[in-house]
Amino acid sequence: MKVYLDNSATTPMSPEVIEAMLPYFSDEMGNAQSVHSFGQRAKAAVEKARREVAALINAAPAEIVFLSGGTEADNFAIRGIAEAYRDHGQHIITSKIEHPAVLATCEALEEAGYRVTYLPVSRNGIVNIEKIQQAITDRTILISVMLANNEIGTLQPIQEIAGVVKKARERGLDHLHFHTDAVQAVGKVPVDLNELGVDLLSLSGHKIHGPKGIGVLYVRKGTRLAKQLFGGHHERDRRAGTENVPGIVGLGRAAELAHKHLDERIHRIRTLRDYLEREIISRFPGVRVNGDKEQRVPNVSNLSFNAIDGESLLIALDLKGIAVSTGSACASGSIEPSHVLQALGLTREEVRGSLRFSLGAYTRREEIDYTVSVLAETVTRLREMSPSDELDTLNPALS
Ligand code: PLP
Repeated sequence: MKVYLDNSATTPMSPEVIEAMLPYFSDEMGNAQSVHSFGQRAKAAVEKARREVAALINAAPAEIVFLSGGTEADNFAIRGIAEAYRDHGQHIITSKIEHPAVLATCEALEEAGYRVTYLPVSRNGIVNIEKIQQAITDRTILISVMLANNEIGTLQPIQEIAGVVKKARERGLDHLHFHTDAVQAVGKVPVDLNELGVDLLSLSGHKIHGPKGIGVLYVRKGTRLAKQLFGGHHERDRRAGTENVPGIVGLGRAAELAHKHLDERIHRIRTLRDYLEREIISRFPGVRVNGDKEQRVPNVSNLSFNAIDGESLLIALDLKGIAVSTGSACASGSIEPSHVLQALGLTREEVRGSLRFSLGAYTRREEIDYTVSVLAETVTRLREMSPSDELDTLNPALS
């Protein structure tokens, strides 16, 4: 049996998405900028997708900018504001648990002379509103806080932060902007731009059963962003480059499906996730849930298994056809402990024993049952093989 429980990394495309995209690789291969009818049909398909994505997040179609994915959306939002408002101030506020697409962009700006405040989070992974309030100065031009975290699924109080931003603007800080990386939230929880109150929002196609290499930056009407790509006048002169028509069509269809089935998916996935979590916790005493148990997306369960090395467990599960992920990123041969789990204040052992299970729209109950049964035999075997005091020698990079 093959079981894919790594939907936070990427999702399988819906069959309807593939079907919608296919003509745009062949018969309907026009360039959306061309004047002839091939071009016009491609343009009509792009505009239809724009309306579908806008409807999913309750935005206006003109506020949707198609680009290559979540990484580009985050880069564009942060660099776009930083460069456009440089003369008003060079201070940015973000959190310690952002995705590298945000953190590395902020670090690059620090090298260029900007000042960045990295806010800590509580033990359950939530930023503190008061700390945000205290961090704002009259030189702050941007706050970037993610909607849902990619490792633990925790949801941040975006509406409340927007309230803080609104008050600061009323005091005269009208150059202060608010961006949220919603790559892991869109399609998992209702996202309504009218309610959220952000100026900029990133989303990505491949996290919502759409294609890879396509994403969106929502740019609230009237928000000024410095261009990051120079070339043609695509996307209302905001993002140069021939439109990825099949990708855009696929993202549009995925957004339409996510919108239509949102409530049902949330309910079904949450039921399965809670069942998985309950089964694991009841079988293995000492397993802990990382991040806030309530304030989180319905598809993620990040657990710390005590006295187990997460990497070993991941490999053992993979041998049985089950795909999950750990809180560690393998970089150039060494294993870096997760910056997110570290920011929660987890012990070294808890970080090392962590595993992320992430479900998707196609996860089935039988797959969860199979996973639990494989875990039952694997965890016992691994615990026998590697008592916790020997873990340091197993994984020296983490010591
Ligand atoms: N932001 C978050 C929270 C993510 O989880 C990811 C991908 O894992 C990204 C940004 C990057 O998105 P993309 O893979 O579309 O570049």
